[in-house]
Amino acid sequence: MIRTYRYRIKDSSAASQLNTLARACNFVWNFCNESQEHALRWNQRWPTGFDLNKLTAGCSKELGLHSQTVQAVCEQYEIRRKQFKKRKLRWRGKRSPGWVPFKASGVKLVDDTVRYAGHAFRLWKSRELPGPVKCGSFSQDSRKRWYVNFVVDVPETEATTGTKQIGIDLGLKTLATCSDGRKIEAPRWYRNQQRRIAEHQRKKRSRPARNLQAKIANRRKDFLHKESDRLTKECELIVVGDVCSSKLTKTNLAKSVNDAGWSLFKNLLSYKAIARKVVYREVSERLSTQTCSCCGVIGGPKGREGLGVREWVCGECGAVHDRDVNAAMNILRMGHHTLALK
Ligand SMILES: [Zn+2]
Repeated sequence: MIRTYRYRIKDSSAASQLNTLARACNFVWNFCNESQEHALRWNQRWPTGFDLNKLTAGCSKELGLHSQTVQAVCEQYEIRRKQFKKRKLRWRGKRSPGWVPFKASGVKLVDDTVRYAGHAFRLWKSRELPGPVKCGSFSQDSRKRWYVNFVVDVPETEATTGTKQIGIDLGLKTLATCSDGRKIEAPRWYRNQQRRIAEHQRKKRSRPARNLQAKIANRRKDFLHKESDRLTKECELIVVGDVCSSKLTKTNLAKSVNDAGWSLFKNLLSYKAIARKVVYREVSERLSTQTCSCCGVIGGPKGREGLGVREWVCGECGAVHDRDVNAAMNILRMGHHTLALK
C-alpha cells in the first residue's frame, strides 16, 4: 500500500533555499506550458512527458535542481493536463504555493536531515518512515510553511476483526448517526471561530485569519481520522448514504455542510475500509428518512422542511423513531440489498 508521510521542515533559513528551488521548478513548468501552447498554435502533436524530458534535458545544473526533479515536473505536467482534461494548464508564478518534486535517488534521509542537490534541510521527525522512499516532494502550505512529503510503500494493515454491520446517516446536527443508535457529534469549530476570522478579515489581517483557518482544518481532519479509524476497526460492513454535499453547499446550509466535512469523512472511511478489508458501500439516501424501518411504509418527515422533526411515530405500525437512527437503519438495509443483488 502506498502512503505519504509528511514532515515539517525546521530551519527558517531553509525557506529561502527552497523558494529558489521552487522558482526553478516553476520555470520548468512554465516552459512545459509554453511548449504545449506552441503545439496548440501550430497544430502539432501534443508533447508527452517523454518529449518534454527530451526538451529540458541538461538544464538541471543551471537551475540548481536535481535532474530527476526536472523530469518529475515534466511528467507531472502531462499527468495533470490529462487528469483535468485541459488543453493547457495554469502559469505558475509567485503566488503559486511552492512545489519541488523529487525521485528516490534525488534525496537522502539521514536521521532528521534530508539532503537534496547540495542542500541539507532538517525536519521535525515526528515519526519513523516505515520503508524506503519511492518518490516525493517539498511543498508549501497556505501559511508559506515548507514540508517534505515522502511517498512510501508500507506493509498492509491488518484486516478488521470487527463484526458490526453499520449504516451511517450523515447529518448537520450530528455529523453521523449509526444504525446501532450511536451518534457522532460534529464539533463545530468553524461556527465558533467564525466571528474571530471575520474580524481578522475585516481588518485586513490576512495572516491570523489564515492561521485560524488552517488550525480549524487540522483539528477537523484529526477528529475525522480518529472517528473513521474506530469505525473501520469495529465493523465488517459500512454503508453510507450519498448526501450530495455539492448541492447542499449552494443552499443556506452551506456553512454547516463545509464544517461537517462529509466528503473528507467519506474519503477517509473508504480508504481505511479498503486497507482493513471492510466492505464499504455508498447507497442512495432517497426516502431513507421518510420510510419506517420497521414496516417499510413511507410516512416520515419530508425533505428540508421536515428537518426540524427529530422524532416521529409511524402511522402504520406505531413504532417510535428517532429521525436519524431510522434513516441509518434504512441505509444499512439498502446496503444489504445492493450486496444481495451482486
Ligand atoms: Zn412502521
